[in-house]
Amino acid sequence: TRPDNCPPDVEVLGRATWTFLHTTAAYYPEKPTPTQRANMLMLLKSLPVLYPCSHCASHLGENMKTSPPDVSSRYGLSRWLCLQHNEVNERLGKKKFDCAIEKLDERWKDGPSDGSCD
Ligand code: FAD
Repeated sequence: TRPDNCPPDVEVLGRATWTFLHTTAAYYPEKPTPTQRANMLMLLKSLPVLYPCSHCASHLGENMKTSPPDVSSRYGLSRWLCLQHNEVNERLGKKKFDCAIEKLDERWKDGPSDGSCD
């Protein structure tokens, strides 16, 4: 394995980015204000333009044309991101994640009920 002071490769960057996006979605308001929605939309729409893995960025941009981001609520955003991530998982031959909100909250917000992450 590479030392962890190396510049991020596609995998390390991807894990960090998914952590940021899923966690931000997990704490996004149930009823976002127009300003919060607009800012989230800008954040997501920036990715196909700025994400520093160009083939990742262009795949995402294509997907966002047919499946525009759902910034209407915490639930909608968490689910939309999960589906986007699953699309990448599928393309890379990785396992799909169950996009039920309980599973997403367990992974990104609350941790498992056995307390192992407390
Ligand atoms: P990751 O896929 O990084 O997942 C991290 C953790 O998230 C997992 O351990 C799991 O607990 C959880 N998780 C998994 N799936 C979901 C889900 N659907 N919803 C919620 N949580 C989930 N790599 C490429 O090689 N080609 C690409 O085109 C590409 N496109 C990308 C596009 C974007 C927008 C991003 C952010 C990353 C992209 N990547 C791409 C990187 C790739 O998705 C992975 O991050 C990388 O391969 C490392 O994978 P990993 O197995 O460590 O887990």
